[in-house]
Amino acid sequence: MIPRSDANALALVVFDWDGTLMDSVARIVNSLRQAIGDIGAEPRSEAQLRDIIGLGVRQATQALYPGTDGAFTEALAHAYRSHYLERDTTPTPLYPGAEQVLAQLAERGFLLAVATGKSRRGLDKALKETGLGRFFDATATADEHPSKPDPGMLGYLVDRLGVDRRDAVMIGDSSYDLEMARRLGVAGIGITHGVHGAEILLRHAPFALVGSLEELPPLLEVGQGSG
Ligand SMILES: [Mg+2]
Repeated sequence: MIPRSDANALALVVFDWDGTLMDSVARIVNSLRQAIGDIGAEPRSEAQLRDIIGLGVRQATQALYPGTDGAFTEALAHAYRSHYLERDTTPTPLYPGAEQVLAQLAERGFLLAVATGKSRRGLDKALKETGLGRFFDATATADEHPSKPDPGMLGYLVDRLGVDRRDAVMIGDSSYDLEMARRLGVAGIGITHGVHGAEILLRHAPFALVGSLEELPPLLEVGQGSG
């Protein structure tokens, strides 16, 4: 059972989006590759492109092209958004059980939130298209807060929803999610169906690792007893 400040505390479950709830990794990689070609930058490997998923656009650009300036970041971000939001047609399905798991957690009384490296525009579009927006009590994006692994966006959600950080848990597929959680003193749960595998996630001392969203309700002790 997830640690709580007291046994009856209402807990907050914060989800990362890309690679955690939505299988958008292939579209992100394809869109980045196209955007890099559009602006004539030096190509980067698939592994390099995957590894920056979850960061905000500035941090991602600096990780791929260290020392480049703001104009370069803007050009890459503009080209990327054009591909990801409008031109690329790589499917971005939700992971199995996403809607049912969120419904089950909400029904059980958990507060639910999203903390993502996406922009506000990108997240709102995804929430609308998937119909998942109705489940979330608050959301935080990387254009409104410092990028993961800075704990700022997670701290914002905890404060905004009035939850003790000991009663929150962060679910994510990348080291950035787990490092963010650890830096705030929030329990992290790594999910291995996205960008980073178990070996990398375990370096950040997660409370638990799961292979699918469907493993979360029992881990969070949902659905046992009448509540
Ligand atoms: Mg992710």
